[in-house]
Amino acid sequence: MTAQRGDRLRCRGWRQEALLRMLENVLEIGERPEDLVVYAARGKAARDWESYSRIVASLRQLAEDETLVVQSGKPVGVFPSSPDAPIVVMACGNVVGHYATAEYFDELCDRGLMMWGGLTAGDWQYIGFQGVLQGVYELLQAVGREHFGGSLAGRFVLTSGLGGMGSAQPLAIGLAGGRGIVVEVDAAKCKRALERGHLSSVTGDLDEALASLGDAKAGTVVGLVANAAVVYGELAERGIVPDVVTDLTAAHDAVFGYCPVDYSFEEWQTARRMDPLGVAERARVSMALEVRAMLRLKASGAVVFEDGNNLRVQAETAGVRDAFSIDGFAKRYLRPLFCRGIGPFRWVALSGELSDLAELDRLVIEMSFRPEVESWISLARQHVAAQGLPARSCWLGHGERSRFAVAVNGLVRDGRLAGPVAFTRDHFDSGGMTHPHIGTEGMADGSGAISDWPILDALLLSASGADLVAVHAGGAGYAGYVQSAGVTIVADGSEAASVRLRRCLDADSGLGVLRYADAGYSQAQLYAASAGLGLPSDQEETR
Ligand code: NAD
Repeated sequence: MTAQRGDRLRCRGWRQEALLRMLENVLEIGERPEDLVVYAARGKAARDWESYSRIVASLRQLAEDETLVVQSGKPVGVFPSSPDAPIVVMACGNVVGHYATAEYFDELCDRGLMMWGGLTAGDWQYIGFQGVLQGVYELLQAVGREHFGGSLAGRFVLTSGLGGMGSAQPLAIGLAGGRGIVVEVDAAKCKRALERGHLSSVTGDLDEALASLGDAKAGTVVGLVANAAVVYGELAERGIVPDVVTDLTAAHDAVFGYCPVDYSFEEWQTARRMDPLGVAERARVSMALEVRAMLRLKASGAVVFEDGNNLRVQAETAGVRDAFSIDGFAKRYLRPLFCRGIGPFRWVALSGELSDLAELDRLVIEMSFRPEVESWISLARQHVAAQGLPARSCWLGHGERSRFAVAVNGLVRDGRLAGPVAFTRDHFDSGGMTHPHIGTEGMADGSGAISDWPILDALLLSASGADLVAVHAGGAGYAGYVQSAGVTIVADGSEAASVRLRRCLDADSGLGVLRYADAGYSQAQLYAASAGLGLPSDQEETR
């Protein structure tokens, strides 16, 4: 599976063609394209291959004043709308509250009635490990600033998981100047990271891994083929305390995402199909072992946090009562950014040309948003190899996103790029997500579980004419924990695209700022006032 490149259109316009290329792209760079699986254990791009073919056929026929409706990865109908309306709307993984359990969700999936679309798989917005790379990098920078006198330089980071998202970790540790061990149970994933040049070496032996870290230079990251629960436990037992400890296995999914200590990697592959309930129970017991070890390492002085994979929930379910004394990364380190609408924004060069990506890198630096943006883009240019259609993740904020996207649309219009550009973002963004153990953990006013916000965000984005709008909820271990909204808008060089980009990007991140202002965060309130966000009477006062 490869995404179409070049300027040949297979659809009736670039908006439709762009979404088709985005769909192809998530499978081009996905973890198991043969099963339509993109990332996060079983995050899929379409319900099944028949649905995939019918989505492709619909996108090819769709007129600009029609909207395709997709329910959990299956296309269900095309309706007349208007050129100002979304080309695609979708809802994925939503089950009413009482029924939103991992077990019932799995049953519905097994019956072919729905699918887990991850956050960016089912709505075709995944851009590979880079999608989480800057997030992990910014997080480690914040940890360095807060705990280690300004920098992570030379610090020992212990983490695990080298899957779709987790494979960003070695590079992020290196870019932040740290050293580390990444534990991964699948030798093939370690080999892949080594071949990409992100790991310095791979071993199956903990002592060898520790020895090669020794006084190795900054940026040395060793892949350890082992089970995280075993390794974390062993380190805690021996009193070897890393500076920073986290985990990015797909712990949210106790069946397909986390290998129990009782099984080898190969045994786990079979067991999870033959005995999913037994595997889930064993996996939770193993996660409890790992989290207990993390708590011991924390008590011994390590900085320990969960990186958004629901590990603490799983451990708590298995009896670790103080699992939540481990910090969640978003609340602890990233909330100030969300208060200003700054989050994981991204763009994709639909031409497939690296020269387009280079031009966009040049432009975003030239627009001088903030020093952090410039330094990130410089690092990304040097160290991030293209995966699929050339893409860039870049944490821009409210106002910055729309200014940049409209300027890019001008480049497309003037023929200075080889093709249009799609703009999108992770659902883990200021306006996009309710997850009381990730993005909205510990909200100041106790509103962290209220899912009105991402639903409002999706409605607003539809009203603003985004090209694709999605409302997702969690499958497997995220069931009942997450509600989120996704959006894609295409810069095709037209005047209508300029209007759409400004309207949608300002609305999306603006609602995010208002969500935090409403919860009482003064940074968000001050920013909202300065940007004229809120009700007309507030805006009048600002003027
Ligand atoms: P993935 O399924 O592609 O990879 C998970 C990896 O963990 C696999 O390679 C697997 O072999 C390994 N693994 C499983 N059990 C293990 C164990 N006991 N010891 C060592 N390795 C083990 O998942 P992914 O796409 O990398 O996502 C990882 C997690 O990150 C998911 O829970 C996902 O939802 C979450 N996530 C977080 C963010 C964020 O912003 N922090 C963003 C996106 C996704």
